[in-house]
Amino acid sequence: MIKGTTQLLGVIGYPVKHSMSPIMHNAAIATLGLDYAYLPFPIAPDQLKTAIDGFAAVGLKGFNITIPHKQTIMPLLANISDVAQAIGAVNTVWWNDGWCGTNTDAAGFLAPLQTLERDWSQCPALILGNGGAARAVVAACHQLGCPDIRVVGRNTEKLTAFAQSWQTSPLKPNLAVHTWEQLDDLLPDVGLVVNSTPVGMAPETDASPLNETQLNGLPEQAIAYDLIYTPRPTQFLRQAARAGLVTFDGLEMLVQQGAAALEIWTQQSPPVSTMRQSLLDHLGQ
Ligand code: NAP
Repeated sequence: MIKGTTQLLGVIGYPVKHSMSPIMHNAAIATLGLDYAYLPFPIAPDQLKTAIDGFAAVGLKGFNITIPHKQTIMPLLANISDVAQAIGAVNTVWWNDGWCGTNTDAAGFLAPLQTLERDWSQCPALILGNGGAARAVVAACHQLGCPDIRVVGRNTEKLTAFAQSWQTSPLKPNLAVHTWEQLDDLLPDVGLVVNSTPVGMAPETDASPLNETQLNGLPEQAIAYDLIYTPRPTQFLRQAARAGLVTFDGLEMLVQQGAAALEIWTQQSPPVSTMRQSLLDHLGQ
């Protein structure tokens, strides 16, 4: 129930109507019995500063950030965590004598992997795609302790810029960039392969970034991780499961990045299963 004491959280984006964050966070707020409400705020790019000044004026507790504001909000913040600086994007903001930002995508990506018993120092990582999500995955693989990180992309200029950006970051991942033509040479000893491209996302559900032969050629213990959560599983993960690999899809990352944000705002342990179930219900799964 909204009362005179209710505090506000939210998500900004443009558009923002596709965001599932209000569903997940309001479910969590209800389970925890907190006096909060989490709202979507469509903010046009030229209104970003006005919006966050307004949020400060009305005492918003914190908010998530989605496309197109994840980078452009950074100069407007008083403090940015090392991980967000390394990733080059902020997805979670809270007020502490000024707006402070971090990025919980890397923690969200890591959470399901951390349930496994692995010697990550023996797991080279292969990341397909070099967009925004790939940056969070690089930070996460570095944090896991993967001995080397191989990033595959299709645009050599963007790949070079991607590699260079990590040289000046607070993290110093052992990273090399490659084109798709080099893929087969990168596979034989890979311990973790991550799809951070939209290949295989609905409605192109028959597409996969790796073919069955390539997946069968991966080491027995390898993990296949797709950041996509519609459909679940993707063609990539279906083939990976047939090849006997451990698989993870993007839903848990989505849930866990939200849980990490909620913990920052409320200082309470987030009800992860409620958050997960609210998304599964919404997706009809
Ligand atoms: P992005 O910034 O647009 O990056 C997409 C990357 O994929 C780029 O490197 C792009 O290459 C590459 N790519 C696009 N189409 C391709 C194709 N047909 N073949 C090969 N490469 C292709 O997007 P993003 O934000 O990183 O998101 C990537 C995926 O992760 C999306 O499916 C998104 O839904 C998912 N995601 C999931 C979560 C989660 O919580 N589970 C969070 C974030 C993102 P170019 O640069 O050459 O175009």
